[in-house]
Amino acid sequence: MRAFMLRKSMLYGSSGALLGAVYAFLAVYVFNPVIGGGLEKVHLLLAPFMLGTLAYLLGRHAEVLEKAKRRFSDLTHQAITERHWSVGFEDDYIPTCWEVKKCENTGCPVYGRHHLRCWLIAGTFCRGEVQGHFAQKLGNCAKCEVYQTAMAHDPVSEIGENFNNLMWVLREKEDMLGSAHNELQGQYKELEQLHKIAKEMAGTDGLTGLKNHGHFQRYLKKEIERAARYDRILSLVMIDLDNFKQVNDEFGHQKGDAVLCHVGRLISSEIRDTDYAARYGGEEFVVIMPEVRGPEAVEAADRLRRRIETLHKQVDLPEFQTAASFGVADFPDCATDSNSLIAAADGALLFAKRQGRNWVAYFRDLSTAELSNDDLDKLNSRLCGAGFNTIHVLAAAVDARDNYPESNRKELTHFAVEMAKRLDFKQDQAEALDLAIRLHDIGKIGVPSKVLKKKEKLLPEELALLRRHPQMGKQILQEAAQIRDLIAAVLYHHERWDGKGYPDGLREEQIPLMARMVGIIDAYRAMRSDRPYRKALTVKETIAELKKGSGSQFDPGLVEIFIQLIREEGGKNLLRAV
Ligand code: GH3
Ligand code: MG
Ligand code: MG
Repeated sequence: MRAFMLRKSMLYGSSGALLGAVYAFLAVYVFNPVIGGGLEKVHLLLAPFMLGTLAYLLGRHAEVLEKAKRRFSDLTHQAITERHWSVGFEDDYIPTCWEVKKCENTGCPVYGRHHLRCWLIAGTFCRGEVQGHFAQKLGNCAKCEVYQTAMAHDPVSEIGENFNNLMWVLREKEDMLGSAHNELQGQYKELEQLHKIAKEMAGTDGLTGLKNHGHFQRYLKKEIERAARYDRILSLVMIDLDNFKQVNDEFGHQKGDAVLCHVGRLISSEIRDTDYAARYGGEEFVVIMPEVRGPEAVEAADRLRRRIETLHKQVDLPEFQTAASFGVADFPDCATDSNSLIAAADGALLFAKRQGRNWVAYFRDLSTAELSNDDLDKLNSRLCGAGFNTIHVLAAAVDARDNYPESNRKELTHFAVEMAKRLDFKQDQAEALDLAIRLHDIGKIGVPSKVLKKKEKLLPEELALLRRHPQMGKQILQEAAQIRDLIAAVLYHHERWDGKGYPDGLREEQIPLMARMVGIIDAYRAMRSDRPYRKALTVKETIAELKKGSGSQFDPGLVEIFIQLIREEGGKNLLRAV
């Protein structure tokens, strides 16, 4: 109907112009010669009327064109914004395919469907289904019978027909894009699913269904980062089945696999939903317990240990006693990074095995444990590469064994920092000194507690054992420490200014500066603490004792600085008055 209006206006315009031309022609060349002139007057009389009609027709034509333009723009806008594809430039004068082909057969697939044109129907016109894509046929549109019939009417119809063509192109493109999008979406979802499965499989242990080693390492790192950021705690439990090789050897590997599966299932069912379990490798498992402290994790591990003790009945192994050993370490008390935490739990696990298996050991309890040289070597190699964090914990363990309180250690660190300042130490040297203060006695981990805690005079062999601690300390630290000063300080902190110390009998400047400093600070600590053989000295007594040792036991220059420091601190009431 819209096209119809436009077409009419075109007719108005063209018929007005035609009428004027015919009139002028007839007046000048036909009627005037026939009647011998005189028509000029009539012509003059009619001219205003003709001009008026012409002007009206022109005005009307412009108005109709303007309306058509607006309408066209509305339709285009509507078609684009609302995607209302049925918006068409319908024109009663444009015949549809079945009309052009005079097809009145109701069996004709397109009969009665006004929107279907010849160019929508490939080849068979009224006799076939819509085939192919219009966009492919658009180039041949001009050859189409219906198109040609439609175009024959007027330019407005041509606009309408082209508008329809455009709509079809857009619709087809949209349909194609839509289906391609849907297909892609489907494939993407499938890929996503496959990716999820692949990822799951990559992180899962095939035998037990628990997470595997790689997944555990990544998970623990993340958990520790999270705990560190939010100031939280977590425990790590390491589990190693006892005498498992025997199961394989005596009952076959399939039985061994069955035991591993059962243990995996048992661990999963025993732990909390918030805990995490993985197979670390072979017959070793790990459990991460967020928000759980070491002692609490030890209790949980012990429950698990008791359950594993009865497992042989379920896997039909009456001749074998299933059992496992457990090592527990917690963050941040035992270690502050994942490698150190694993090393600490592993160290505790080693100790659990040493205790005779079927045992749960907590890393911090190693401080009160008797460790043989062999144990120490093994522990040392486990801690190597774990960094200083674990070694700090060991140092704290040594402090605990020596009965030094934590407050005492803080005071010593304070003195170390102050002395480093007065001697213009660089930052890394100051840090090394602080570490040396903390770690210098780390070798005592290899000295039996009964020797360390003995109140009576030590026997010669006990004294020899005690005197090995600097070398043992060096042995523990040499893999972890990059700082030569630190090792030297640990090794030589019992040397004396007069050369009568140990282990090498170095004297005066031969003794590394840091070792001399550690020597004084360590002596101060001993003087200010209650020892098995005497009560703690007062500040005054301590100063007198240091002075007494100046030039014989201690570096006199350092004693002077240190005493000055004690006096300043005493003035600030920082020291305990004893
Ligand atoms: P300990 O009490 O000292 O831990 O002794 P153990 O026999 O458990 O330890 P050892 O390290 O000597 O042996 C571990 C055994 O675990 C040897 C290995 O064949 C077995 N094992 C590791 N992975 C699997 C597995 O996937 N299936 C089976 N059936 N056995 C495994
Ligand atoms: Mg093992
Ligand atoms: Mg084992």
